[in-house]
Amino acid sequence: MTEAPQKENGEARRVVLRVQDLAKHFPVRDGLFGRVSGHVYAVDGVSFSIHEGETLGVVGESGCGKSTLGKTVLRLLEPTAGQIVLRGEDITRTPERHLRAQRREMQMIFQDPYASLNPRMRCGDIVGEPLAIHGLASGQEKDDQVTSLFERVGLRVDQKKRYPHQLSGGQRQRLGIARALALKPSLIIADEPVSALDVSVQAQVINLLKDLQRDYNLAYLFVSHNLAVVEHISHRIAVMYLGKVVELADKRALFASPLHPYTEALLSAVPVADPRVKKERIILRGDVPSPMNPPSGCAFHTRCPHVKDICRVETPPLREVTAGHFAACHLREPAASN
Ligand code: SF4
Repeated sequence: MTEAPQKENGEARRVVLRVQDLAKHFPVRDGLFGRVSGHVYAVDGVSFSIHEGETLGVVGESGCGKSTLGKTVLRLLEPTAGQIVLRGEDITRTPERHLRAQRREMQMIFQDPYASLNPRMRCGDIVGEPLAIHGLASGQEKDDQVTSLFERVGLRVDQKKRYPHQLSGGQRQRLGIARALALKPSLIIADEPVSALDVSVQAQVINLLKDLQRDYNLAYLFVSHNLAVVEHISHRIAVMYLGKVVELADKRALFASPLHPYTEALLSAVPVADPRVKKERIILRGDVPSPMNPPSGCAFHTRCPHVKDICRVETPPLREVTAGHFAACHLREPAASN
């Protein structure tokens, strides 16, 4: 799959991350000797790229592999196959001990910041820790950088002396963002970063992420089950189903004319603020099949309202149907030039 270069003011934006045919399969073991009896195909042949200053949203139901995708890109999980290229450097097989420089470039924001923050450390020390570990600043210089990070994310400077449990949920997420920013990364992977927050606080954190992106030209891989949130922050959106991307497009194109029946069903469930707009909800049959034993052919065929015979036997590739709009469905013909 190839994607057109992104342009802003006529300038081509540089690719920060390129992922090609990435897979993460978890072996399932049973019996006394731990024999491998199968695999969970959590991520199965995913390709995309993200440019400077761009947000790629990744959506899908629980268990579709979107969080595993984020962790595999970060090399928190070892990829089973495929390629991860960060700023032109292939880091897929870089040994863990040599990943330090790349780890500065890629940071993560978690759904539950409390679980990822050391409860025994003061907030200022949590944000300053990566600066010390990477030898970037110490003493007064480190303290000054921590102060400016607190101010940048909307925390009060006196909160440096507090512990994470003394902050609200929204403030803790701001703390997690400050820590992620400390190393001046070019890519941030945000895994359900606002799902645990109240709706009013969600909007504040999303707006903060957008401001930071504008100021630092950050690239975001934004993982969420919430399409409304993803629509608000993303430039392009990838829809995942059972470990595969089934549709990838500019957000306006995706919302205006979805090409995959699964995306249509997801969009039909998004509430619309205008009461004059009537939407018919598409109810999908059955549950998401097990990623240990995905259906043959198109993995969505067991729930698809448009299923055909070919869908049960042949896996549709992700193809460009209109310019920049990709879909994996037998109903969609590829663009004539492809
Ligand atoms: Fe539905 Fe067939 Fe398209 Fe899969 S390939 S989404 S089953 S129509």
